Amino acid sequence: MHSMFRKLTVAAATLALGATAVLAQAPKKVALVGGMLITGREEQPLHHAAVLIEGNRIVAVGPMDQVKIPADATVLDTTNKTMLPGLIDTHVHMVLVGHGDYPRYFKWLDDHKKDYPLSRILDISAKQLILAGVTSGVDLGAPLQEILDVRERIKKGMPGPRLQVSGPWLTRHVAIFPASYQHDVTSPADAAAFVDKLADAGVDVIKAHSGLTREDYFALVQEAHKRGIKVHAHIYDEESVRNAFDAGVDILQHVGSAGLPPYSEQLQNDIARSGRPVVPTVYHRAWLYPETIDFPERLDDPEFKEELGEPLYSEMMDSFKNFPSLAYFQRVDREQFFAQKSLKQWIDGGEVVSMGTDNGTPANFHKDALWREMKVFVDNGMSPMRAIIDATRVNARNVMGMRDLGTVEPGKLADVIAVDGNPLADISVLGRVDVVVKDGVIYKGAPAPAAKKK
Ligand SMILES: [Zn+2]
Ligand SMILES: [Zn+2]
Repeated sequence: MHSMFRKLTVAAATLALGATAVLAQAPKKVALVGGMLITGREEQPLHHAAVLIEGNRIVAVGPMDQVKIPADATVLDTTNKTMLPGLIDTHVHMVLVGHGDYPRYFKWLDDHKKDYPLSRILDISAKQLILAGVTSGVDLGAPLQEILDVRERIKKGMPGPRLQVSGPWLTRHVAIFPASYQHDVTSPADAAAFVDKLADAGVDVIKAHSGLTREDYFALVQEAHKRGIKVHAHIYDEESVRNAFDAGVDILQHVGSAGLPPYSEQLQNDIARSGRPVVPTVYHRAWLYPETIDFPERLDDPEFKEELGEPLYSEMMDSFKNFPSLAYFQRVDREQFFAQKSLKQWIDGGEVVSMGTDNGTPANFHKDALWREMKVFVDNGMSPMRAIIDATRVNARNVMGMRDLGTVEPGKLADVIAVDGNPLADISVLGRVDVVVKDGVIYKGAPAPAAKKK
């Protein structure tokens, strides 16, 4: 049966619950009506569609002339637009804003603690992400209490993506980040003990950073899995990937993006067979750097000033003054040499590919990192439909472990966005987000509650 003519489906369970539960007020109803719908499944888009939401769940999806829109629903007109599941970024750094130079940024934050406590930075990033249509994300590295706190602020209604957070990462290469961002592993037992401590504190995932031994990986993965928590590993070279993979690391981050030749066929096949997702994070240097050299005007986004406020805005812009000399990009020539070959191994190899961006890193902004990451895949041979599915359903199910997220179907969590145009013809229209609904709450798009106040 062609999807265009499929029957309107309704989540009977959700409606039944609504009818029997004693509610102070009827669940809020929101309808997105008129545009094309990409559901997040491998099927043709539905044209002139409607999506009906009650409370935080999607209750009906179908052609607009078949979905009955209740009179008390708030209607968002999506005529001429494409509706799709809220985007998910599986590698986010909310503590960063895209500033060009880490040591300088952290010193600046230290000097401006009063006006810019870390909580303010996290709130800025949260807002940038959700307004860009990123309705869920996995934050991989931040001081523990601050990141748990922002996750809670967002849960209580502050604009921002639904978050899974790692807190500080485990490493044997203490990086230029402050001590509160990382734990210096001294032994496998020490790694396991720190995993326990993080789990007790309430993190959602563990991030294993660099320099860890094979024994470290085995110890920390075993402990994390005992606690029901997935492990993300930050890994590049063949040996580290092999060690992390053999130890049972759940999500392989950064793989193939550091100026190294593609992995051995054996390793690629093992990863493909395992079904464990790879998050190649390809855009942030090998493509970002030449793009920014060709068009430095991309840095002059007029919205930054309002989003970051002064003096952070001026500080960030000043950090880009000598863009080609930034330390972060000094190995980019090697990365570019292998970038396409490395990327092709994932596009053609049958691995589960997850879209994550490492956003917040230099000039890799929360507001545009994800569609740019997806565009690199599409430009190198991935179908736009697969890129969208990877950034939605695959990210929800295979990375976040959430089966009620990542598609626009009755019964699923109500995360739906609308973009201006057809992303199947031009993936960059994902950068033009007009409507954002998360958990049934409208964050962008008239008639939004915020728009009424003005
Ligand atoms: Zn990393
Ligand atoms: Zn990262």
